[in-house]
Amino acid sequence: ERLNNDFQFVQVGRVDPKKVPASKRRKNFGEIYYQFESADASSQAHRCLECGNPYCEWKCPVHNYIPNWLKLVSEGNIMRAVELCHQTNSLPEVCGRVCPQDRLCEGACTLNDGYGAVTIGSVEKYITDTAFALGWKPDLSDVKWTDKKVAVIGAGPAGLGCADILVRNGVKPVVFDRYPEIGGLLTFGIPEFKLEKTVMTRRRKVFEEMGVEFRLETEVGKDVQLQDIIDEYDAVFMGMGTYTYMKGGFPGEDLPGVYDALPFLVSNVNRRLGFEKDAGEFIDMKGKRVVVLGGGDTAMDCNRTSIRQQAASVTCAYRRDEANMPGSRREVANAKEEGVKFLFNRQPIAIIGEDRVEGVKVVQTQLGEPDENGRRRPEVVPGSEEVIPADAVLVAFGFRPSPADWFSELKVDTDDSGRVNAPEESEFAFQTSNPKIFAGGDMVRGSDLVVTAIWEGRQAAEGILDYLDL
Ligand code: FAD
Ligand code: SF4
Repeated sequence: ERLNNDFQFVQVGRVDPKKVPASKRRKNFGEIYYQFESADASSQAHRCLECGNPYCEWKCPVHNYIPNWLKLVSEGNIMRAVELCHQTNSLPEVCGRVCPQDRLCEGACTLNDGYGAVTIGSVEKYITDTAFALGWKPDLSDVKWTDKKVAVIGAGPAGLGCADILVRNGVKPVVFDRYPEIGGLLTFGIPEFKLEKTVMTRRRKVFEEMGVEFRLETEVGKDVQLQDIIDEYDAVFMGMGTYTYMKGGFPGEDLPGVYDALPFLVSNVNRRLGFEKDAGEFIDMKGKRVVVLGGGDTAMDCNRTSIRQQAASVTCAYRRDEANMPGSRREVANAKEEGVKFLFNRQPIAIIGEDRVEGVKVVQTQLGEPDENGRRRPEVVPGSEEVIPADAVLVAFGFRPSPADWFSELKVDTDDSGRVNAPEESEFAFQTSNPKIFAGGDMVRGSDLVVTAIWEGRQAAEGILDYLDL
């Protein structure tokens, strides 16, 4: 018999969905987590204490109604749960897979204090995957169509979040993307072992049936001019991401065998999805000693992709300690299980080699006193220089904004670092200095998370609806 909620979390501990064993994962690109069985999803969801003031909900960037849908799952009511999920989130099955829950919803769960947080992310994924398998589709039969149409530039999470809200309010979204598939970094950055690509192709069909139109392999500024789009549409949303790679600024970064993280990951996706135009584009780590520089999500994805490409060894050098890594703890743990060797407190000072890369020279660092933001900056330990031998180096230091040259012509202002100015708190949320153009996601906030991009896209759509007086 089912226990009262007050005791369920003591009787039933946190159980994550099962993982594929690490030995198999090393040779396989598929997702590593199995789906919950329905009884497990229900008993895990039932652990929720239904706190009066749910911290998880506040910490979740889209403010999902978490305790409410957990209750519905514990009662077996998937169809109502999936409707509720979609009231706040355009891609719940994606967030359930890739959000760093330990820093967001689950980190704020009351049970995280000793008992193990409720498995919120896995339940969110379970709800949407199960509902889709049962044939669920968003019901737009009550939508009153207007005569308005809005152009969305970028089919990443920000653009998709925006299109979702627009179409649900009777506004026709036409989404332009230079890539041959929707998803932005969900498809062309985040690897399959975190997010299988069928998740996005399934979502594309759903969006198309809802009335979203995609114009893929169409680069704005090249294949079509933004001014023409502005003239044709009632408003424009830009969710174009950040694609300028950060450099280390040390010698040897241009040696053959040194690669930026994203081209490496994209070349892997292109080969696996059949989008490769030229076999020479593929960056192959088979048999190589790979050194990955960086400690965020992108670095983890490079580590684990290299392992799957059968690298001889993969070493990840990061300048802070493990506790100060910016990426999700879950993914660091997964990388370790798969055989990635971590060198913490190592700062690269040069990439060395005659004609091509032969190694990375690093110094050891220790953390100094906290600065005004509480962040402890690394300081060099004298005499600690060493060389890590390498046949290939992947640089994963993050991304800077990439403002297009046509922004200024169209009076779209950016800040000093190149981020588009589009304040959330203004008359029309996320409106840029050009009243007809709105923007959100990484190009506004700097490279961040999938779920924050979704939030900004959705909020910008609300701003557009207000602007169009709908
Ligand atoms: P993007 O996802 O970058 O989408 C922008 C889209 O705009 C792209 O499809 C691009 O082709 C298109 N575009 C740009 N310019 C044009 C143009 N001129 N014409 C037409 N189309 C254009 N976040 C997480 O929450 N969890 C993770 O595990 C995670 N892992 C990551 C791993 C990697 C390797 C990387 C790089 C990022 C990761 N992130 C993760 C961050 C997350 O992917 C981004 O914050 C998020 O995708 C940003 O969404 P966006 O819609 O703003 O931009
Ligand atoms: Fe947690 Fe992300 Fe889902 Fe919000 S969207 S509940 S942060 S997994």
